[in-house]
Amino acid sequence: MARRPAIPASRAGTAITASPYPQVGEHGGAILDGGILSLSKIGRIPMRLHRPLHGTPKTVTISKEADGWYASISCAEVPIEPMPLTGKETGIDVDLKVFLVTAGGEYVENPRHHRQAEKGLKKAQRCVSRRKKGSKRWWKAVRHCAKKYQKVKRQRRDFHHKTALSLVREYDVIYLEDLQIRNLSRRPAPKPDGNGGYEHNGASRKAGLNKSIQDAGWYAFRRILTCTAAWAGKRVEAIPPAFTTQDCSGCGERIYKSLSVRTHVCTTCGLVLDRDENAAQNILASGRAGPSGANVGGCTERSLRSPAR
Ligand SMILES: [Zn+2]
Repeated sequence: MARRPAIPASRAGTAITASPYPQVGEHGGAILDGGILSLSKIGRIPMRLHRPLHGTPKTVTISKEADGWYASISCAEVPIEPMPLTGKETGIDVDLKVFLVTAGGEYVENPRHHRQAEKGLKKAQRCVSRRKKGSKRWWKAVRHCAKKYQKVKRQRRDFHHKTALSLVREYDVIYLEDLQIRNLSRRPAPKPDGNGGYEHNGASRKAGLNKSIQDAGWYAFRRILTCTAAWAGKRVEAIPPAFTTQDCSGCGERIYKSLSVRTHVCTTCGLVLDRDENAAQNILASGRAGPSGANVGGCTERSLRSPAR
């Protein structure tokens, strides 16, 4: 932990007090002063601030990651930086094939960082399991593996931030479906065959589906999108997910389709549209119609991460 702290001159010497840093201490827990973070019961740690603080620091969380220690400082009353209004709004829908579709038919491809990196991860993990547990070489392999995981994590977060920013730039209001991802990800129910055994219940197929859902990290993305929107003076609203995929966005007719049917074909009005684009249009219509307007979650994304090595 002895690297020269790089702190913007404007913040040098600014004292922050934060609680509850891990445990609320008698002396307020944590103080940041001129690039030195003083934590109660730990002491003074030089840190590198990677960007200036905005707002009032409230809590400090210390975490150990594959490449070192980090202090996350979350701030309240962060001033917003409104983006110019565009007068446009949209609905977005998630998919397994692409990351998201807007009501206007724009697609954001799924990067699938995890799958791309999977080969490397597997290799790194094999390396860990071949080595003698607890040995020097084993620890080395463990660290190597952890770094690979960390890279995937960061790539995903970067992708989320970029996608969120481009959406927020373009639209004033973004409607999305209040999806219960945990339900989608759950194990399928066992299917008894009547003779005391079980029939194939599609568990492995569903596992593949789950992977894609988790891979897409929709929850994480929503949190980032909500924060980005709030900071830019724009809005993200969730609408209840009722038949957004099934209903026709042209005439409202309910056309039932299974997950494998990729195209919406309306037998009443003749509308033919990609399954997800149809859903995104329904989400937009539902958002415009309803006073439902429940704001999505809180802005809990950690606002600042500073390496403290
Ligand atoms: Zn129709």
